[in-house]
Amino acid sequence: MADVPAECTIKVMCRFRPLNSSEVTRGDKYIPKFQGEDHVVVGSKPFQFDRVFQPNTTQEQVYNACAQKIVKDVLEGYNGTIFAYGQTSSGKTHTMEGNLHDTDGMGIIPRIVQDIFNYIYSMDENLEFHIKVSYYEIYLDKIRDLLDSFLCPQGCTERFVCSPEEVMDTIDEGKSNRHVAVTNMNEHSSRSHSIFQINVKQENTATEQKLSGKLYLVDLAGSEKVSKTGAEGAVLDEAKNINKSLSSLGNVISALAEGSGYIPYRDSKMTRILQDSLGGNCRTTIVICASPSAYNESETKSTLMFGQRAK
Ligand code: ADP
Ligand code: MG
Repeated sequence: MADVPAECTIKVMCRFRPLNSSEVTRGDKYIPKFQGEDHVVVGSKPFQFDRVFQPNTTQEQVYNACAQKIVKDVLEGYNGTIFAYGQTSSGKTHTMEGNLHDTDGMGIIPRIVQDIFNYIYSMDENLEFHIKVSYYEIYLDKIRDLLDSFLCPQGCTERFVCSPEEVMDTIDEGKSNRHVAVTNMNEHSSRSHSIFQINVKQENTATEQKLSGKLYLVDLAGSEKVSKTGAEGAVLDEAKNINKSLSSLGNVISALAEGSGYIPYRDSKMTRILQDSLGGNCRTTIVICASPSAYNESETKSTLMFGQRAK
């Protein structure tokens, strides 16, 4: 392992999407007040992050600020994790994936993949690279492999990939498997965490020096509170499980941010999986995603509070 990077290893970014058409049609008030590059006020409450992105921020600008540095570190042998956190329809999937096949619309994951391969293509031929990816989701604390028949007690499929195109095809394959397995994809994706994992191994064939780094790219389940009335049975169990896994993630991240000696990794499936890429000399970025509409004000505030805990 290389030396610990000097900068703070947890970064919290906040991205507001534009008002969507139903919010505009309803005449919702636009509530965030942006101040400088790192402050936003919502309902007279000020919040500060490493960066705040206004709705007109491009996918490229978000990538440059949130992920570019982590990619560089992974190629130097560090591990890292990028999360998107927020209520359903706040822009998590837009931020992490975006449009996989459109240069401007690509989100963080396809840009990372491109950057990794561009780096590989630019290196001299003494360096041998092995890139493998996995794609899975966590639903009710169980892992489902999106690249296989969905059950992975012995660990998920690891697919060796040789080009950005192969990675995009793999993601498309995983997404279509996910669609087939559920009746309502929007509902399902708001209740499960999806994790795209990239491992990069490199060996210098002249010096035999080896480096390996890995990256977890996590599109979290929706953080909205399920209304206390109405939810019962399986829906209530789901909601409780999501709350528990998101709050245990929050606990791990705030323990790391405080430099606490005890980090409660074992409290949920997700934090156990991510353990070797959270904390220590790993890089972590959380992108807090939010709606600008007054209709969502209370969810937006609790979302921003979650991000604030990690600072
Ligand atoms: P989530 O994954 O949090 O449920 P999505 O990423 O699916 O939310 O976003 C909901 C909708 O809003 C999608 O149609 C998406 O394209 C759009 N959207 C989200 N963020 C932005 C943005 N920053 N700019 C433009 N459209 C966005
Ligand atoms: Mg989504």
